Amino acid sequence: MNSALSSLAENYQWLATLYAIGGLIFTTLAGKLITQLVPTLKAANRLNKDTLAKKMERPSYAENQAWNRKWGAIFILPIFAVIVPFTLTLQAQPWWQMLVDIVVILFFYDFFYYLMHRFLFHDSSFLGGPLMWVHAVHHRQHNPCRQDSSYIHPLEVAMGLGLFVASIFVLSLLMGPFHVVTFVVTWTAFSQINLHNHTLWTSDRFPFKYMNYLSRMHHNHHAKFTGGNFATITLLYDWMFGTIDDGNGWQKRAAAQRKAATEANAQG
Ligand SMILES: [Zn+2]
Ligand SMILES: [Zn+2]
Repeated sequence: MNSALSSLAENYQWLATLYAIGGLIFTTLAGKLITQLVPTLKAANRLNKDTLAKKMERPSYAENQAWNRKWGAIFILPIFAVIVPFTLTLQAQPWWQMLVDIVVILFFYDFFYYLMHRFLFHDSSFLGGPLMWVHAVHHRQHNPCRQDSSYIHPLEVAMGLGLFVASIFVLSLLMGPFHVVTFVVTWTAFSQINLHNHTLWTSDRFPFKYMNYLSRMHHNHHAKFTGGNFATITLLYDWMFGTIDDGNGWQKRAAAQRKAATEANAQG
């Protein structure tokens, strides 16, 4: 019993966790500074802030935002106190290993997020869409702004954050603990991409083309509840599973593609 406890204590990397928290505060502040320095980012920030201010005039909207911020903070505490410390290391690692780890975590998470988002929150064909009522809160925003990434039911906050942290935890057991830098970069990418997907974005000029694409695709997802684009980090899994939604939904196009494939088979 004692040895189990001491091995648990040995693996509890509290110092690495403190560095990770410091790192996340640093990337948040650096992000704010960059937003002020790059005109395109500054303009988008203004547009989204103004849109948010208008939405906040509605008491029910403001109440929901406040409610979710509170629950987000409540979930973050146990995540950083109990789970994160067991996934980190301060031991030096080669840069390529960190890069591989970052990509693996993000793609692993995105695969399960795709399944959760599609089959629990939207698509009733397979499991009956059991949590549509939870996700319906997020979909009240048909044309979201950046801060609408946190306009969600608390249960969905728990599921989304839970899935992300569970991905890191499971992978750390399989691949060994992750370097603090890996953790900070991965967490920052996860939250910034989530925020960006909801951002009202106008610039389509180089180098912002891909950012424009990502934001537009998630806005297609919000335009109607039967839309596609279920993944959040990249649209790789939507592309693989035929749920890309370029603004006209995905189900009709997927059916047409199936029909064309059957016809081609019959002819061939
Ligand atoms: Zn959705
Ligand atoms: Zn969304």
